[in-house]
Amino acid sequence: MFDTILIANRGEIACRVIDTCRRLGVRSVAVHSDVDAQARHVEMADMAVSLGGASPAESYLRGDAIIAAAQATGAQAIHPGYGFLSENPDFVDAVEAAGLVFIGPSAKAIRAMGLKDAAKALMAEAGVPVVPGYQGDDQSPALLAAEAQKIGYPVLIKAVAGGGGKGMRLVEAPKAFADALASAQSEAKTAFGNPHVLIEKYITSPRHIEVQVFGDGTKAVHLFERDCSLQRRHQKVIEEAPAPGMTPEMREAMGQAAVRAAEAIGYKGAGTVEFIVDGSDGLRPDGFWFMEMNTRLQVEHPVTEAITGVDLVEWQLRVAAGEPLPVAQADLSITGHSFEARLYAEDVPAGFLPATGRLAHLAFPDGARADTGVRSGDVISPHYDPMIAKVIVHGSSRAVALRKLRRALAETQVAGTVTNLAFLGALARHDGFSVGDVDTGLIGRDLAVLTEVPDLTPAVTAQAALALVGLDRVPMPLDGFALWSPVAQDVAVACGEEVYTCRITTRAPGEIDVAVNAQVVAARFGANGWRFDGQPGAAVFVEEAVATVFGDPTYVVRRVDPLEVEAGAGASGDLIEAPMPGLVRQVFVSAGALVAKGDRLAILEAMKMEHALLAARAGVVAEVMAEAGSQVEAGAVLIRLEEEET
Ligand code: ADP
Repeated sequence: MFDTILIANRGEIACRVIDTCRRLGVRSVAVHSDVDAQARHVEMADMAVSLGGASPAESYLRGDAIIAAAQATGAQAIHPGYGFLSENPDFVDAVEAAGLVFIGPSAKAIRAMGLKDAAKALMAEAGVPVVPGYQGDDQSPALLAAEAQKIGYPVLIKAVAGGGGKGMRLVEAPKAFADALASAQSEAKTAFGNPHVLIEKYITSPRHIEVQVFGDGTKAVHLFERDCSLQRRHQKVIEEAPAPGMTPEMREAMGQAAVRAAEAIGYKGAGTVEFIVDGSDGLRPDGFWFMEMNTRLQVEHPVTEAITGVDLVEWQLRVAAGEPLPVAQADLSITGHSFEARLYAEDVPAGFLPATGRLAHLAFPDGARADTGVRSGDVISPHYDPMIAKVIVHGSSRAVALRKLRRALAETQVAGTVTNLAFLGALARHDGFSVGDVDTGLIGRDLAVLTEVPDLTPAVTAQAALALVGLDRVPMPLDGFALWSPVAQDVAVACGEEVYTCRITTRAPGEIDVAVNAQVVAARFGANGWRFDGQPGAAVFVEEAVATVFGDPTYVVRRVDPLEVEAGAGASGDLIEAPMPGLVRQVFVSAGALVAKGDRLAILEAMKMEHALLAARAGVVAEVMAEAGSQVEAGAVLIRLEEEET
């Protein structure tokens, strides 16, 4: 076994590899970019080497700098993780030329699977079923159209160098073929520098089922399948193992095909053979076809670890160090069921836009495995993938595991950035998914329901209001004491665009009534903390003027100025000024915008409260001087409207 290895990656996968290193007593070397200097993987590793820069090209893709770091720290081997250099055969050659071990397959095996057309041809030769289609060199549009006709519509055009769903087009009918081909080719040219495509039969009701394989360079075993059919735009969202509805015959057939694929290329290490499965008529041993092989450890490997009890990273290290396969096929079996959900910083209502921001608070529940590369206080930067964590559960059956998944998602706490948690929660409750009725179109079909966020309830609003004014603490003896009447205070809070006015009346210590838009919620303090209309309060995280009320779903509630001041508008209403010193949170308009009286033009955060700056009159925006994120003085002009014509 190695005594020191370098991990050429970042984030959760680097942390995951370091975990195993620690368990095996192997010293770990992290590499990092400038923005990752304080990252969790750097903190966890025994040593760290700076690569500089921020973007992947300036840091994690610098193969030469990474090899030099390994040599300087006495590492004997390099673990590539996934992404970055993990499937780059030139990097493998360079690592080996430097006298180091690449923890993964040979450059030759990576090259064999690098292009989809060559891989398909090779697999067909090895007796692995492939999707019927055309994967020849002749790329003339007329020939490709004729091949599509032969295959029969609908067909899928795929970039041979493709990945991440890029350069892929579904074509339903012949008349749409020429345009789809041209756009797939141009996308492939831009993304991969290679315009070549293949055409294949489009499987309706497709399921994505992949098989984990592990080889020692000659022999291979499989560690059963994972179902990754829950996808959004070809990106996996929730994965599980084993696949629902899998029969022993089909598992046997798929496992053997995957092992044949791995052995055909002398595969060494962990790999995944991806199959497309026709799920329209149940799972049948003749209804699966090879799509591609990923020559690395996959993001979703933990579900396989959960059901087999194998530490795949340990196996990677042992086999790379020259040990034989740790077990024979007959020694492997499945115990229970596992799910993995991918938690991202992303704005789901805005169309799943990647989000950035500081994770003011991050906590995972017991009873789930959370693979993460970040901690409370860390920043999700725009430079890398916005994944926060993978939440993994295991149960004795699919039903038990699914209940644990729902619970783990409901109890995962993230504050400071938007996330896809509510979407994952809705998916985990989806009726079809609950009974294992999955296909790759499920999310797309039911997107509206899956992304619906229920309105704030009065109880949650009341709790947020108390938290924002600091009254959700342990009551004190004199709370609410006044000679003439209970102590009342008004606060306005907002969730999204919706504003709620709350009148908080403290009747006695531990006895507060909160009238939310006139509906009264009774907040009472007892042995287990605050209850709201009899229900236990949720966990809340407050930072400045924002309260995050955790639950299923989690709500972000801001304190706003109840008067929504028409702040600082000069007599003519031409100038929108900051009424007090503060931080410009958001600017809603740009020069040339037409505004109506009362429109919200900007949000200023000051004195732990958000103040909406409204247009005092209708008009056209002449100039915007304010920038979101900037600190301004009282009286600073933020926006100017064009003078009114008289
Ligand atoms: P990429 O390498 O770009 O990710 P893949 O070949 O892995 O492309 O395919 C990505 C996804 O597209 C699959 O997971 C599956 O959902 C869908 N897909 C691929 N091939 C087919 C097909 N022949 N019929 C239907 N869906 C397909």
